[in-house]
Amino acid sequence: MKRLAGKAALVTGAGRGIGAAIALAFAREGASVVLAELDIDTAQQTAAHIKAQTGARVLAVRTDVTQSASVQQAVSEAEQAFGAVDVLVNNAGINVFCDPLTMTDDDWRRCFAVDLDGVWNGCRAVLPGMVERGTGSIVNIASTHAFKIIPGCFPYPVAKHGVIGLTRALGIEYAPRNVRVNAIAPGYIETQLTHDWWNEQPDPAAAQQATLDLQPMKRIGRPEEVAMTAVFLASDEAPFINASCITVDGGRSALYHD
Ligand code: NDP
Repeated sequence: MKRLAGKAALVTGAGRGIGAAIALAFAREGASVVLAELDIDTAQQTAAHIKAQTGARVLAVRTDVTQSASVQQAVSEAEQAFGAVDVLVNNAGINVFCDPLTMTDDDWRRCFAVDLDGVWNGCRAVLPGMVERGTGSIVNIASTHAFKIIPGCFPYPVAKHGVIGLTRALGIEYAPRNVRVNAIAPGYIETQLTHDWWNEQPDPAAAQQATLDLQPMKRIGRPEEVAMTAVFLASDEAPFINASCITVDGGRSALYHD
């Protein structure tokens, strides 16, 4: 029996990176999957790839998580196609790394619009159905920035701390209705986002090496390694895990260093 057989899942920002890996892992485990993604071309390409690999039912819907009506529309399309949304993964996120005092108001708003409002918009759209059916699992992709601070990365960690707060608050609110809300805190994962960050540094190769040097496992993570944890939290193997956060960082955030 596949671990997500009979379930329908909506994954935001699923066109590439961690979201695409989660969508593929869910499909492999028998779920029908909706890729809710800003860039519809990428979403459709990824959807076609997942379909070809797994034979699962896959739908790509253009979605901007910063707009509640857009997320609501994606959920409506998912419900029309698959009957319900049993699992939501709020994955879409952007890096906004600034110095607090030179940051613009727009930087602040852009960060919160995607990294925190986007997560709430997703939760708000699926919760009524989950509460009514008395079952559901929401997985929010946070970050190790949700509990550790690196200077110069403001305000991303502020928004990611908020994701943990939202996860815990909603997990408690809806626990009596058997709706679980959890988070995953990835460390460095090999995606476009990470390469973009390295490439923005004055010496990208040195920045990449410095990242690797501080990894206890001497490598960064792979999107599939976050996806495995998402499958677990979404599945019926985690029925008593709620309002929690699982760190997937190879031990990096436990390492003390000068
Ligand atoms: P990527 O940038 O590779 O992928 C993010 C995806 O989200 C892109 O497809 C992007 O679409 C989409 N997206 C961006 N804005 C929106 C929006 N407003 N509405 C819908 N989709 C949107 O990122 P990762 O896969 O690396 O990151 C995924 C999540 O994991 C994020 O929340 C990130 O903060 C978190 N994370 C990542 C880590 C890492 O090391 N990679 C570490 C810790 C956390 P488009 O390309 O069109 O903009």
